[in-house]
Amino acid sequence: MPPEKPHWAQLYSEVVTSGLCTGCAGCVIACPYDVLTYDDRASFRPIHVDEHGGAQDCTYGARGCTLCTRACPRFRTWEAECDTYLFGRQREPSEVAGQYIEVTLARATDADVNHAGQDGGLVSALLIWALETKMVDAALVSYLEGDGRSWRAVPGVARSRDEVLASAGSRYTYSANTLAYKDAVEGGAQRLALAAMSCQASAPAVMASRKAGKVARRFELNIGLLCSKTFDDAIFTALFDKRYGLRREEIAKINIKGVFEIWLRDGSYHEVPLAEGYEWTRAGCMACPDFSAEHADISAGGIGAFDDWTLAIVRTERGSEVMEAACADGVIEKRPIDDDPAAVTLLRKLSRVSRRRWPEDADPGPRLVAKTEVPLASR
Ligand SMILES: Cc1cc2nc3c(=O)[nH]c(=O)nc-3n(C[C@H](O)[C@H](O)[C@H](O)COP(=O)(O)OP(=O)(O)OC[C@H]3O[C@@H](n4cnc5c(N)ncnc54)[C@H](O)[C@@H]3O)c2cc1C
Ligand code: SF4
Ligand code: SF4
Repeated sequence: MPPEKPHWAQLYSEVVTSGLCTGCAGCVIACPYDVLTYDDRASFRPIHVDEHGGAQDCTYGARGCTLCTRACPRFRTWEAECDTYLFGRQREPSEVAGQYIEVTLARATDADVNHAGQDGGLVSALLIWALETKMVDAALVSYLEGDGRSWRAVPGVARSRDEVLASAGSRYTYSANTLAYKDAVEGGAQRLALAAMSCQASAPAVMASRKAGKVARRFELNIGLLCSKTFDDAIFTALFDKRYGLRREEIAKINIKGVFEIWLRDGSYHEVPLAEGYEWTRAGCMACPDFSAEHADISAGGIGAFDDWTLAIVRTERGSEVMEAACADGVIEKRPIDDDPAAVTLLRKLSRVSRRRWPEDADPGPRLVAKTEVPLASR
């Protein structure tokens, strides 16, 4: 038997239509023949063009192209492959939040960056640092469309401090930031940073582990956002507006800390119970097992007691070097996670909850959990 060369036909049946597809768009940016498009309004899924095999097949795939399956962070044994590539071994079931070097609290020292950030502004500070030190030429991020009043999140490229600051903060609808890859490269960028949700943050590692070509080699820095779900755009009208009278064009900031925290442009503050948002959970998040962005260089989240600090999980040597260098340059500051031990307990709890969503009939790896985490010092 010749070796199997899985391509779009297998990706379509095993991931896109099986409920595993997150919409990360890794396959779209890796496709060398531009036969994949993307629905960024409703399904947030890749679509194969009619001319080259239709929805379910691919004429280039039939001739041997396998790049879409090599770029997919939900195809078959993706977690084990990424783990082995990044850390030299698979995750232990006790490592529910993935493998890491350090968990710490961190924030931007620059008041403007700290203020613009969703939590401590760590992500924006690191992106600005990476651009200004020329570690990367561009960052793939998410902006709000137009003047921001639509609250529609769209992928985009940041090449300067001002652009990073314009993209700061969190939107809780989906934005496949990987899709900004093409604009970045066409604009001359060779080395990229990616700031994106957990599902997208596994794309660079899976591409590198499966040798998915030059797309994989362009990602120099990968910052993942902790994430339990995103919501459909309809949540703005059907929940926030209809039930609570909070019109989307009046909303200035949203955060999620056990409830939807909503600040309006008139300065008023409102809370909406998180459970009420459940029915607008985006379909692509329903089977996602990765709360903690386990394959990022650095994962960043807002859980914890301190509103203006970001919880940072430093995972790779690259991530560690970047954190230390940014600290030494004075653009970020750190404080020990021991100041907020409850944050780590919550990190593990939310990581376990997400892992239980991974279907039992898929590769068993991502569902494996143990009750306790291996203490850092014993590794
Ligand atoms: C959809 C979503 C769900 C999240 N869920 C959790 C959670 O459950 N628990 C938790 O602890 N943390 C969660 N986070 C992470 C948290 O909101 C912060 O992003 C994180 O703490 C970093 O804060 P910061 O101030 O350092 O980041 P900032 O400096 O504000 O930078 C944030 C970066 O995120 C990008 N971004 C914003 N919105 C999106 C989006 N919709 N899609 C892709 N990229 C985006 C921005 O472009 C920016 O580069 C979530 C983030 C998002 C976007
Ligand atoms: S999970 Fe990502 S790479 Fe895989 S099929 Fe869906 S969009 Fe493509
Ligand atoms: S829960 Fe977050 S990381 Fe998982 S698929 Fe949804 S957006 Fe992606």
